[in-house]
Amino acid sequence: MTQRLFQGIEGIADCTRHLVSRHDQNSLVPDPRSLFPAGDADKLHEECGVVAIHNHPDAARQAYLALYALQHRGQESAGIATADGQRLANIKGMGLVSEIFTDDVLQKLPGHMAIGHTRYSTTGDSALLNAQPIRVDSTKGLIAIAHNGNLVNLGNLRTRLERAGAYFQTTSDSEIIVQLIAHSQASTLVDAIAESLAQVEGAFSIVMMTRDRIFAARDPRGFRPLSMGRMKDSEGRDTIVFASESCAFDLLRAEFLRDVHPGELVMVSEDGVTSRQFASGVAQSSCIFEHVYFARPDSRIFGRWVQESRDQMGRQLARESGVPADVVVPVPDSGVTAALGYAEEAGIPFRFGLIRNHYVGRTFIQPEQRVRDFGVRLKLNPVHNLLAGKRVVLIDDSIIRGTTSRKIVRMVRGAGAREVHLRISCPPTVSPCFYGVDTPSKRELIAANQSIEEIRRFIEADSLAYLSLDGLLQACDGGEGNHFCTACYTGNYPTQWIDVDEILPAAVSL
Ligand code: SF4
Repeated sequence: MTQRLFQGIEGIADCTRHLVSRHDQNSLVPDPRSLFPAGDADKLHEECGVVAIHNHPDAARQAYLALYALQHRGQESAGIATADGQRLANIKGMGLVSEIFTDDVLQKLPGHMAIGHTRYSTTGDSALLNAQPIRVDSTKGLIAIAHNGNLVNLGNLRTRLERAGAYFQTTSDSEIIVQLIAHSQASTLVDAIAESLAQVEGAFSIVMMTRDRIFAARDPRGFRPLSMGRMKDSEGRDTIVFASESCAFDLLRAEFLRDVHPGELVMVSEDGVTSRQFASGVAQSSCIFEHVYFARPDSRIFGRWVQESRDQMGRQLARESGVPADVVVPVPDSGVTAALGYAEEAGIPFRFGLIRNHYVGRTFIQPEQRVRDFGVRLKLNPVHNLLAGKRVVLIDDSIIRGTTSRKIVRMVRGAGAREVHLRISCPPTVSPCFYGVDTPSKRELIAANQSIEEIRRFIEADSLAYLSLDGLLQACDGGEGNHFCTACYTGNYPTQWIDVDEILPAAVSL
């Protein structure tokens, strides 16, 4: 059953509708989300992707295509809001972008402007109401907002706003930004937005829309990526687009213009593009894990191609902890680029020794162990003739709890590998993230509670090595002068506000 929320749609009262999806229609075809994909139980999850389109006759469809390219950033819910100068319509639903936005649903979203959002979140926080864009009728008029990241000074702000009479429709931290705008004393909307963004602490790459303008902004530390691009029609008219990752521009045939700068607020209206800094003098701390895992290798984020960073991670890993072997095998898909770099640097053949079933999506966490085990085999299968009798270097991008890595090592050994050496293309993950990445607490992170040798024994590998922090920083430094957040590897958080409970280590060994 695909659940959708309609707001501001002509001829339809605001409501929630349940529509039967193709998965419900044929009970013999399992909904991939219910099977839980292997590997992803033990991966970190990005929470969102955002897009915005200004000045396109079919803005909703362009937003849909851009969200489709960003589906890897969140698969639980998605939404598109459109505006035509008069109305601001919004449709959001639970599920994948292609499931929610069928042709007839897209036709209900008229207008030349659109913003869109795709979201991953933990199950306790998955209500349709918290899906985005969030549409609020405020004292400053109708506003729709879509947000990637996490705010960290929520409690204080929310209490202050509620005392001032704010009524929250959702538990989403994105609504706090809208309420701050609504309660601002500033005389213009753009001043109110700038003033509100300066008050919130944490990670936010946001797109906002009123009936006639689009806004895009990044937090002063620039945690999450946000890029700006342009399409030109046959008459030379510009469509301005924003997206979390530049891979979305390729599908739209848009030209990449630049990143939205940390602390910058960009406004796009009929009069063109204007920009202002709402905050400055704060050290940049862009999320380095975007380069390690989240972003697609065909995206350029923080001024650097993700493919280049991952290739360098693999090469550096080979230099730091090379081991005699017959084949280099990636854990697909995210380990592939680093494995290519490793293989080339080490002079060892690269082989796809594990095959991923691409028809299993990467979404819901099923806490039930039996399903999780099933998921590993469902998603990955070893190529026996490539692995039998071989010394294998397996390349992956992280070990979170360790359980999935152990299953994969066992799978490779079960296919006849003589030795299995696991190499990880980043340092051990020792601390949770508070900036928009869904991580387990420190108690559940294996590297926070066990030594590398203990982890090696747990996952049953012949050897285990991680990329050093210096090695990772070097791999992601292409001369762009970026400064990165590395808190999940170091525990050194760039903001003051964090949840102390989440960073307590396990009382007993895992
Ligand atoms: S803590 Fe880790 S995942 Fe979170 S923003 Fe920092 S580097 Fe990225």
